[in-house]
Amino acid sequence: MTKRVVGIDLGGTGLRMGVVAEDGAVEGLQSLTHGGFSHPMDAVERLARMVEDAAAQGGPIDAVGVGVAAWVERDTGFVTRAPNLGWIDVPFGELLRRRLKLPVVVHNDLKAIAWGEYRFGAGVGARTLLVIFVGTGVGAAVIAEGNLLVGARGFGGEIGHIKVGPDDGPLCGCGRRGCLEAYVGGHALSLKARQSVAEGRISLVRPDSEMRELTAADLEELSNHGDAEAQALLEGGGMQLGRVLGSMVTFLNPDTVLMGGGVWDSSDVIKDAVRIGLDLSSHPDLRKSVRIVEGRLGSRAGVIGAADLARRNL
Ligand SMILES: [Zn+2]
Repeated sequence: MTKRVVGIDLGGTGLRMGVVAEDGAVEGLQSLTHGGFSHPMDAVERLARMVEDAAAQGGPIDAVGVGVAAWVERDTGFVTRAPNLGWIDVPFGELLRRRLKLPVVVHNDLKAIAWGEYRFGAGVGARTLLVIFVGTGVGAAVIAEGNLLVGARGFGGEIGHIKVGPDDGPLCGCGRRGCLEAYVGGHALSLKARQSVAEGRISLVRPDSEMRELTAADLEELSNHGDAEAQALLEGGGMQLGRVLGSMVTFLNPDTVLMGGGVWDSSDVIKDAVRIGLDLSSHPDLRKSVRIVEGRLGSRAGVIGAADLARRNL
């Protein structure tokens, strides 16, 4: 009998869950926003009840896979830091395992997304797949010869914190300066946009107006209407990302690079700048052999990947 495996994608503000079949099909997909979990046990209880509901509706669950927006230690599912959830040193995998009395496998959310796309989406057939997501933060994952590379402790792929700027460069959410994420992450772009408006350099938004947060999509729109500062912010971030991508391509020789994330999806200016940065900074022979693709599974990728990683462990 085929095993019933639940996949969960737990982000800083949203949560997705479904029962995932062997072929990647998702049954009973739920997508909801959560207001944060002040205590990790609240998250464990919430997830456990959702898994129990799935069992009550469709039959016993054999395993649970979770992708969480966090630094996750390999094998144990121990979360060392999850800035968007406000967690530090939480034995998340162990807590969920004990509560559900089921096999539970926890990975970083982007690694789960990458695995989902590799198994059932745009990454199928890739020999060396590099996945880069640009959203609020910036992260990457590598799958080579069918293996998800996670690194010695499980923290591999944090390209958002590769240092691309000077020692006095923009402050990153990690506390260091000059990280890639501080140039092209959604949060960083919003901060820069706000500063530009306050200093009168973004002309199409009045500085005295009730300012809501400007997103990458807002900057894209401003840029399309001829705002040079908005265009420069997006291009600057995109170029930095493209250069890092070029180095990764030269180092890894991937056949496929899969790009995604909210910022990526919303800005053609960034996409163009990334391609220029990539062309300038990668070795031409390696650049020639790589194809750039976008995800095919959409917001289900994390659920599908997390479940499949848990299934492999059974
Ligand atoms: Zn950083």
